[in-house]
Amino acid sequence: MFEKSTWIRLPRNVVVGHGVLDRTVEAVAELHLTGRPLVVTSPTPREVAAERVVEGFAAAGPDPAMAVVAEASFGAVEEVIDTAREADAGFLVGVGGGKAIDITKMAADELGIGFVSVPTAASHDGIVSGRGSVPEEDTRHSVAAEPPLAVVADTEILADAPWRLTTAGCADIISNYTAVKDWQLANRLKHVEYSEYAGALSQMTAEMLVENADSIKQGLEESAWIVVKALVSSGVAMSIAGSSRPASGAEHLISHQLDRLADNPGLHGHQVGVGSILTEYLHTGHNGRWRAIRDALRSIDAPTTAAELGISDDDVLEALTTAHEIRDRYTILGNGVSLDAAYETATVTGVIDGD
Ligand SMILES: [Zn+2]
Repeated sequence: MFEKSTWIRLPRNVVVGHGVLDRTVEAVAELHLTGRPLVVTSPTPREVAAERVVEGFAAAGPDPAMAVVAEASFGAVEEVIDTAREADAGFLVGVGGGKAIDITKMAADELGIGFVSVPTAASHDGIVSGRGSVPEEDTRHSVAAEPPLAVVADTEILADAPWRLTTAGCADIISNYTAVKDWQLANRLKHVEYSEYAGALSQMTAEMLVENADSIKQGLEESAWIVVKALVSSGVAMSIAGSSRPASGAEHLISHQLDRLADNPGLHGHQVGVGSILTEYLHTGHNGRWRAIRDALRSIDAPTTAAELGISDDDVLEALTTAHEIRDRYTILGNGVSLDAAYETATVTGVIDGD
């Protein structure tokens, strides 16, 4: 008897392009949401975009409220929840970089209401997924919630964001290569469910980004276009899989570990990019594609070494040898990489200098 079932949740409206910020109200109107919108933002995106979104809602009728959060913390999530209850908000609109959007999705999840994602930086695939996390003491509080009901990505604004945020978004996409390899490995060794469709979509997204690497240049609005479309299709791959597997493997575990260990961690995307160089080497060794991943990262100005990340060699080695412990997710790290193997991997790939 056939008893399988699946439930795929996708954003309903994805609006990408020049000047589309002013169509946020229109994109939301089509969702038939009721109640007041609460616009959640942080100080810089407030000026760049959130004020305009609030004005748009005000002009259209539904009396918007606004919450400005200063930092990514669990306290900020609670603040947004309180504000939403006081304002009797019907849905949330997250306007900002990763931080404001992560807080928005966590608050929306807790409140049991929908949210709309209006990214002002194309810095990671969290802007189109339901997955989010904020730091909590020395760990992170994460949710695997529903994806946004709509995504409004204005390339004019995204192209104006600091360049390093865009290169971080690119690197997050490039890391899909190794994430998919880890997923396939987990399928073969642990019978973790694998979706051919989601795996292929995620891999193709990474390949298309690498093929377009020449068009990804600072100051070019087309770069923002390419990156945000890739982030959207990566988010769709996760929705189809019903997990973050298509876009998150050992390179993400290593990055989470670096967040804990390093005094000044790098950007998420930059760390997973370097993590991908390491885990591709672990997958395929000397003659594998780790050089291709490194060169793709280099060509878009993303870091390829610990020094460029601003992280010590020791932290890289510790992350590589301990990352398998932080989550029950089978990857190429298996039950742990020995220090000698980690040292060889990190030195051969040039991620650390060695001596
Ligand atoms: Zn990521």
